[in-house]
Amino acid sequence: MIHLEIGAILLIFVSVPLVVTAVLALYYNIRSIHRPMRERESIYSCSNCGHVYAFARNRPMDRCPRCGHLNEAVRT
Ligand SMILES: [Zn+2]
Repeated sequence: MIHLEIGAILLIFVSVPLVVTAVLALYYNIRSIHRPMRERESIYSCSNCGHVYAFARNRPMDRCPRCGHLNEAVRT
């Protein structure tokens, strides 16, 4: 049987999920850099004036550049 100290077991239980999370965060961070700008854009359709516009910011709502009305993103 494998004999481990309680400190070593705790170290493994804390550090393994931490390393896995760090690797996944790094992977998604690198992947988002290589995504084209068009994929990062959110598309909005103004419910007040019908103007269709896109912003690269990832916000659920943004103001229409034509009339200033707040609109929800049609596609993010
Ligand atoms: Zn508008």
